Amino acid sequence: MIVVASTNGNVGIRESMRVLKAGGSAMDAVEAGIRLVESNPEDHSVGFSGYPNILGQVELDASIMDGNTLSTGAVGAIRGYEHPISIARKLMESLPHVMLVSEGAERFAAEMGFEKTELLDDYARTVWKQGLDSLLAPGEFEKLDQLTLWRLIEAASDPERVNSDLYFANRKPEKDAGTVNFIAMDGKGDICTGVSTSGWAWKFPGRLGDSPVIGAGNYAHNKYGAAACTGMGEMAVRASTARSIVLYMKMGKTIEEAGEMAMMDLDELGGRYLSRMNIIALDRYGKPAAFTNMEGASYLYMTDEMDDPVEKPRIFIETHTTWNEN
Ligand code: ASP
Repeated sequence: MIVVASTNGNVGIRESMRVLKAGGSAMDAVEAGIRLVESNPEDHSVGFSGYPNILGQVELDASIMDGNTLSTGAVGAIRGYEHPISIARKLMESLPHVMLVSEGAERFAAEMGFEKTELLDDYARTVWKQGLDSLLAPGEFEKLDQLTLWRLIEAASDPERVNSDLYFANRKPEKDAGTVNFIAMDGKGDICTGVSTSGWAWKFPGRLGDSPVIGAGNYAHNKYGAAACTGMGEMAVRASTARSIVLYMKMGKTIEEAGEMAMMDLDELGGRYLSRMNIIALDRYGKPAAFTNMEGASYLYMTDEMDDPVEKPRIFIETHTTWNEN
């Protein structure tokens, strides 16, 4: 049995393994681990206290995939619910659909008895406002909702800006991109993958990245393995990254070869916006690996023989990046 996670999964990975050891399924383990990340007020990329969209609304995305049946559930741009991973699972188990967004997802959550909650805390609100300060003329903040947002998004979301310590004096630098990834393999050999995120800070309202898109940010197949992504979701959507890795493993590639090939697919992308990408993966034999185009990034895994998770470096594969340059 093994659980693999992005480093911000540290608050949940032990619980995830505890669930597996107690006889829980891979899906139970993924959900349990991710819920703790979603509730972590220190993590501003997932769940409660996640950074909001440009209008100050916290919109969450999540998906879960069962590698045994290839069943999936996903929610996108859902507001007011702390645990989108559980709503995604509930959707998978209750509806013939695989994805709900926005008001539809919120209605489903309410019907299923999920508790509504305020997700924007003072810290995330302050960072959001600070991020807009230098972009807005005096008096514009008060009428933000009436402004044309598209030009603002590009400036607010520039990865260079978002990562600059100078830009946010009180913001902790985030070594890895946000969003949480969990992959678990249980005692029966079933694999499950889960992803949860608040997405890009200052994103355009309604924007979905890779996290709720099966094949892009999340894919699991018991016969071949699983993968999940964090980073600039638009890239993983364009390259079908998570599914690609699993497909490369199906074609006989090792997990390392498959990850490298998927990263090289990202390097083939053109266009003006190319940024960070991180992938965690597991092969069908329970071997983990992770990949990144950010030097120094790491990931976690924990087997049933370990008392604590280990943090290992991701395999670095350079891909070209660009932000609004032709
Ligand atoms: N992949 C997430 C998204 O594009 C963000 C992230 O991982 O930082 O929404």
